[in-house]
Amino acid sequence: MTEDKAAPVSGSLMVVGGGISGLTTALEAAEVGYEVFLVEKNPYLGGRVAQLNQYFPKLCPPTCGLEINFRRIKDNPRVKVFTLGEVEKVEGIPGNYDVTLTLSPRYVNENCVACNDCVEVCPVERDNEFNFNMDTTKAIYRPFDMAFPMKYAIDSAVCKGSQCAQCVDACQYEAIELGMESKSINLKVGAIVWSTGWTPYDAAKIDNLGFGQYPNIITNMMMERLAAINGPTNGKIIRPSDDKTPESIAFVQCAGSRDENHLPYCSYICCMASLKQATYVREQYPDAKVYIFYIDVRAPGQRYEKFYKKIKADENVFLIKGKVAEVNEDPDTQNITVVAENAVTGEKIRQTVEMVVLATGMQPNASDAALPADLKVNPDGFIINDFEKGGMFAAGCANKPADVVSSNQNATGMALKAIHTLVRK
Ligand SMILES: Cc1cc2nc3c(=O)[nH]c(=O)nc-3n(C[C@H](O)[C@H](O)[C@H](O)COP(=O)(O)OP(=O)(O)OC[C@H]3O[C@@H](n4cnc5c(N)ncnc54)[C@H](O)[C@@H]3O)c2cc1C
Repeated sequence: MTEDKAAPVSGSLMVVGGGISGLTTALEAAEVGYEVFLVEKNPYLGGRVAQLNQYFPKLCPPTCGLEINFRRIKDNPRVKVFTLGEVEKVEGIPGNYDVTLTLSPRYVNENCVACNDCVEVCPVERDNEFNFNMDTTKAIYRPFDMAFPMKYAIDSAVCKGSQCAQCVDACQYEAIELGMESKSINLKVGAIVWSTGWTPYDAAKIDNLGFGQYPNIITNMMMERLAAINGPTNGKIIRPSDDKTPESIAFVQCAGSRDENHLPYCSYICCMASLKQATYVREQYPDAKVYIFYIDVRAPGQRYEKFYKKIKADENVFLIKGKVAEVNEDPDTQNITVVAENAVTGEKIRQTVEMVVLATGMQPNASDAALPADLKVNPDGFIINDFEKGGMFAAGCANKPADVVSSNQNATGMALKAIHTLVRK
């Protein structure tokens, strides 16, 4: 028996990342009897799914699914959740890892009942990154209305601390501790599942598509927040420059994707996301025209193909096979002209619309900052599962671009792989 194949010492496992994949792995393992430490760097669980308005293809709100998972976590004492947590160091071998976590202060303790009295008195505004900075919150804030845990947090980068402390006086529950400090803790686990997910590709890096230059060009994730009832416009899709309801919208597919200068790969979900977002527009504005510029439409599988065909049949949705080469803004109307070459007819198209959505892809979080563990990563930053070595695994979009169904399947599989490490004799 080599050292690497030693019998497991710890019967617990750790899941890093509390998005839909991490929640799934944690629950699958906990519900068959294993202790799970779930570590999430945000002050809330749910990951990117919490920012979506509806799920394709059923068009139901993702909060339903999240709520069920949050309830299962609440009811299961085997899952220990660490929000505002990050892994500092991992040492050891499969079956026996020593993990050091850093827990950043929330400045709000367990007494918080989410009454909002603190927000009423807080004098400091900050950009709301949950809504892609399309609105603001106070320095003390609830990340979003269905946040779990349902507790406020303070953004220490902008809070004036003890110089202000109006929230401390306003709180009847003694829930605010401005002196809270970060903590370091050590845990022993037998296996680790990394479900660190993805970040939207930075559209400002795509020079020819005008993001950050023209206000009426937004990204697909911004569109999710605009359409969401708990978003910055209470669900009304309006264009940023003048709050006008758009009569025409263009979707630019593969914005930075399948492009060696940006993301060389396909993110799998962008075509489905734009087809879904076409339904948001058509539902709010029955006369609006939707133009979708694509290289090729990827709607894999029976259910997605059916969804695509349904949208394609809509007489106000125009699918144009052509890669967008440039966009221009009319400075008077702030309308955008999208320029592309129709790959079927060869003709140059100039389509003027009131708003543009860039379908940007998913960039793995592991590509941004190297994770503090001995993990293999492919050239695009997705974590490679080394099943031969075992002990540490990647689930969901940390491993590859995926929709929620595939992320969940993969996350369930990785729960089993982690359990194998724990029970190995
Ligand atoms: C515009 C758009 C629309 C979409 N719409 C749909 C749809 O309708 N239906 C569908 O099936 N899919 C959709 N998707 C895809 C869906 O968002 C993903 O499948 C899903 O987010 C994958 O979940 P995940 O848990 O793997 O990753 P994430 O949702 O990214 O979660 C990862 C979590 O890990 C945390 N984390 C990251 N790094 C660390 C770290 N170092 N330490 C601790 N925590 C960390 C993050 O804060 C986050 O909470 C859409 C995607 C886009 C871009």
